[in-house]
Amino acid sequence: MDKTPPLRHFPMKPGRVTYETIHRRLWQTKGLARSFDCNKCGKPAHEWAYDGTDPDELHSVSRHGYPQTYSLDLERYNPMCRKCHRHGDNKRYRRKLGKPPKKPPWPFSIR
Ligand SMILES: [Zn+2]
Repeated sequence: MDKTPPLRHFPMKPGRVTYETIHRRLWQTKGLARSFDCNKCGKPAHEWAYDGTDPDELHSVSRHGYPQTYSLDLERYNPMCRKCHRHGDNKRYRRKLGKPPKKPPWPFSIR
């Protein structure tokens, strides 16, 4: 099977790649999430969702003050509807922090 190389092989410096950059790169590379079905419930997808499996994942804070976790590896993103995406993200934060996501202080850079 023909596989596109992971994004980290692209000439980009981790840490300078923002969440927004990655999401732009996602639809440039894989297409609009809206043209796929949600990989959880099968309804029309709305956005690309990081699956939380990258050992080198990155963290930032959105302009609305919410923590964002993301990966430079485009293979770790799945098309998802809004509902499943929020649900999955909340579950992941709760697993990590023992509680749902909250506003900062949140570490901008874990490593
Ligand atoms: Zn869904």
